[in-house]
Amino acid sequence: MHALLIALASTVIVNAQVADGTGAPLRTANVRITDDRIAAVGNFKPARGEEVIDAKGLVLAPGFIDIHNHSEEGLGRDPLATTQIAQGITTLLLGADGGSPWPIGSWLDERRRTPAAVNLAVTVGHATVRSQVMKEDFRRVARPTEVAAMAKLVEQGMSEGAIGLSSGLEYDVASYSSTDEMVAVASAAAKHGGFYMTHVRDEADRSFEALQEAIAIGQRARIPVQHSHIKLGTVSVWGKAAEYVGVIEEARRNGLDMLADCYPYDAWYSTIKVLVPDKQYESPESVKAALAAVGGAGNVTIASFPANKRYEQQTIEQLAQSEHVDVIEMFVRIIREGNAANDDALIIAKSMTDADIELFYKQPWVMVASDGGIDSQHPRGAGTFPRVLGRFVRQKHWLTLP
Ligand SMILES: [Zn+2]
Repeated sequence: MHALLIALASTVIVNAQVADGTGAPLRTANVRITDDRIAAVGNFKPARGEEVIDAKGLVLAPGFIDIHNHSEEGLGRDPLATTQIAQGITTLLLGADGGSPWPIGSWLDERRRTPAAVNLAVTVGHATVRSQVMKEDFRRVARPTEVAAMAKLVEQGMSEGAIGLSSGLEYDVASYSSTDEMVAVASAAAKHGGFYMTHVRDEADRSFEALQEAIAIGQRARIPVQHSHIKLGTVSVWGKAAEYVGVIEEARRNGLDMLADCYPYDAWYSTIKVLVPDKQYESPESVKAALAAVGGAGNVTIASFPANKRYEQQTIEQLAQSEHVDVIEMFVRIIREGNAANDDALIIAKSMTDADIELFYKQPWVMVASDGGIDSQHPRGAGTFPRVLGRFVRQKHWLTLP
C-alpha cells in the first residue's frame, strides 16, 4: 500500500481547460498534484516518473463544496460516497437543518478512524442541543436556564470541531423556539468564530417574515448568516424572488455577512398528507386550499401508490378527468384508499417557479447545494451539480461555466 502511494505521489493533468474557481475565464493549463495538494498550475512539462492524465476536451475544476448535505449516516455505510463524488463534490458540510451528530467530538473521531472519500465539516444542530436540554418537553418556549444550557452545549460542539450552528425552524423541535433563544445560541457559536446556517421558519406564505427573522438573528448575535435552500414555495409568494433578493441585498449593505444556497429542482417529494397543513385531509375547504397553494391539482403527480398502482405517474387533475369527479373528490379518494391500505400515496409537487430559481442562481452570493446526500430518495441526492452544469449553464445559459 505504501509503495503504491509513493509511486502515485505526483500526478500531472495535462491539456485541461481550467476553471480555477475564481470565476476567471477558462484557460488551457497543466495541473500538478503532489500527495494530496495542488502543487502547480501552468504551462510546465511533466517530469519523468510522474503519472500523466490527458484531459484534452475536458474542463478541470476544484472539487465542489456541498454546503447542505445529509450524509451523516450514509458515510458510515458508504464511505466511498460514489453518488457524491460522481457529481464532482469533494467536500460535504453535514449537520444541516438543526440536526447534527452528537457529541461532535466523538463523531469526528469516528470519521477520522474510518475516513471517507470526501472531505467533511460539521455544524452543531440547534434542535440537537435543544433536545439534549428539554428532552420530550420541547413543545414550549424554553426557560432562561434552558437557553443558557443550550448555549453551553453549542460552545462545547464548537470547541470539539464544529464550524457553525445550524437550525431548522420549520421542524417540530425547533418550531417552538423564540427568536431570543436563537440569538442566544447563535451568539455562542459566534464567540468561537462560527456562522449561522438556517432552514428558515417558513418557505411558503410567510417566507418574508421568516427571512426577516434570520437577518435579525444574524445582526443581534453578530454572526454571519447562511440561508439554506432559499425558496419561495407557494403560489402567494411565487414570482417574488426579486423582492426577496432585495431584502437580503439591503441586509448585506447594512453590514450583515449573508449568503444563501439553492437546490436546482422545482419540485419536492413526500407523502400526499404533507400537502394539507391543518391535517383535515377530507375537508373540502382544506383540500381546496392545499391544492391551490401548489398551483392546482395539475402540479401534483402521484409518484408511488402501492394501494392503487393505476394512479401512478398521473396528476390529480388527470385522474379526476378520467374518473369523472372533481379534483377535491379525487384527492379525498386517494387519501381514503391510502388509509384503507395503511400506505399513503407518495407525490411530487411543485415548489418553485423557474423564474425564481433563475434569479436566485444569478446572485453571486447564492451557491449550489444539494440538500441530498448518500441514499437520498430525491434526484438531488445524485443529480444536483450535473443538473446545474447541464441545464442551467449549457442549455439555459443562466450562468457561465466559470
Ligand atoms: Zn432544510
